[in-house]
Amino acid sequence: MEQLPEVTDPRIIDGRKIAQEIEARVKKDVEGFVSEMGVKPVLATILVGEHPPSKLYVKLKHWACKRVGIISEDHKFPSEVAQDEIIKLIDTLNVRPEIHGILVQLPLPKHIDERVVMMHIAPEKDVDGFNPLNMGKMLIGHEGLVPCTPKGIVLALSLFNIDPQGKEVVVVGHSNVVGKPAAIMLLNRNATVRICHVFTKDLKSHTRDADILIVAAGVRGLIKCDMVKEGAVVFDVGITWFDEKVYGDVDFEDVLPKVKLISPVPGGVGPMTIAILMEHTVTAAKKQLKLL
Ligand code: NAD
Repeated sequence: MEQLPEVTDPRIIDGRKIAQEIEARVKKDVEGFVSEMGVKPVLATILVGEHPPSKLYVKLKHWACKRVGIISEDHKFPSEVAQDEIIKLIDTLNVRPEIHGILVQLPLPKHIDERVVMMHIAPEKDVDGFNPLNMGKMLIGHEGLVPCTPKGIVLALSLFNIDPQGKEVVVVGHSNVVGKPAAIMLLNRNATVRICHVFTKDLKSHTRDADILIVAAGVRGLIKCDMVKEGAVVFDVGITWFDEKVYGDVDFEDVLPKVKLISPVPGGVGPMTIAILMEHTVTAAKKQLKLL
């Protein structure tokens, strides 16, 4: 893993530090859970194929489990697996009482319908928040197990005392994983929200109005200085791998002089997302064992 320098610039959101704080809280929670129930929370992960970044993300999630005291169960399929096989495994995990959380690493190969797979995860074990019941609850403002990345963003905003109410929020990207849930969660907090995507005409005309700009397109360096409002808060969610290094969607050096706050890549939204996943797994375990 790439060693990052310590963050000393107050404009840079130190996602690793925030993640460490979440994990410290989760670890304590796990200890309480174990002493009360005599069992550890268990997260089952499902990885399909050999996509190197996906393999790395699953490994990082397993490492995080180890740090906080969650047991992780590793399930793998080859990329040509039939959708039914994945669903069969999910059905088994759904009814195993010792499994508290189920995570299917995305993206899945093209022949598999991710939405169908997500529909099969029992809502109470859906620690990634992608099951339509959890998504629907979020849509009506009842946030429980919600997607981890936008939850991390909302948490970071509150840690920096930024109230989204009345703010202009622009989200670049309209996927079910990041863009749409980020927009809904900010709307739930009374922001004025615009969602842009690959078919948006004149992206800049939208992004430069944003008090809070969330970029999740997966296009390296998409956002330049002239596309950002002076004093904006910018969350860079995008990850592009190039030459074994990761790059965000925001041209960091170009944009930094203009922003109030910015999350870097790496070391921003990514670690927070994993820490929130840990938090969700403990919450799911507590709920299933009637501790909440
Ligand atoms: P996706 O491919 O499902 O969606 C990409 C979105 O970006 C789409 O809505 C598309 O219309 C939009 N888009 C693409 N090119 C664009 C352009 N030129 N201008 C405007 N919009 C454009 O991806 P996703 O799953 O939402 O993930 C987005 C990025 O975030 C990826 O790089 C992914 O790796 C990363 N990601 C990071 C984390 C994390 O924890 N840091 C979590 C999830 C996803």
